[in-house]
Amino acid sequence: MSAIKTNVQVCDHPLIQQLFTRVRDYQTPSSEFRARARQMSHYLVYEAMRTLSTRPVGVETPLGPAKGIVLSDYVILAPVLRAGLILSEAAQDLFPNARVYHVGLKRDEATLQAMTYYSKLPDALPAESRVFVLDPMLATGGSADAAISLFTDLGVRDIHLVCIVAAPEGIKRVHARHPEVQITTAAIDDHLNEHGYIVPGLGDAGDRIFGT
Ligand code: URA
Repeated sequence: MSAIKTNVQVCDHPLIQQLFTRVRDYQTPSSEFRARARQMSHYLVYEAMRTLSTRPVGVETPLGPAKGIVLSDYVILAPVLRAGLILSEAAQDLFPNARVYHVGLKRDEATLQAMTYYSKLPDALPAESRVFVLDPMLATGGSADAAISLFTDLGVRDIHLVCIVAAPEGIKRVHARHPEVQITTAAIDDHLNEHGYIVPGLGDAGDRIFGT
């Protein structure tokens, strides 16, 4: 079961929360962190993709005709480098035909502003595009805002942000700038510290995923 409040979906399923507990634990080694974060990413992306559009089709079973569906959206995954790769790997397992546009955003540790250092988006995207921006940590919201803006600038209207954990400050900022964006997360934590880290959060997601 997921709690959906306005356009924030908090996935409180016990399987997700059990994995998240291992991911939060500072004693969890990097190899296990990566495995558990990837497992919970599957569930989070699965929930986020619940509203994908479908088209009815007919199918023949060995016993006769049955009704079925095919997915009809033009799905784009936009992992924010580098921690977003863990969500992207899981999302590609679920949706192998998705197009993947990596977004490189770096946080200036002094100003906490997001700066784009990598993006190879085309000049235009199909009108039926559904973009899943993938970033495990929604902290200040600066990176999410910057990544989402790359797509709204191209006229994409259907954008979903999938993260592992969100801070209230990040949700507020994303929705102030992009009220229509849906957010899926495993938790909304307490606050940001003076360095822009989520408390209690899970630490530096990129460092913990990649063992750096
Ligand atoms: N990025 C992280 O990896 N962790 C945080 O808590 C905030 C931003």
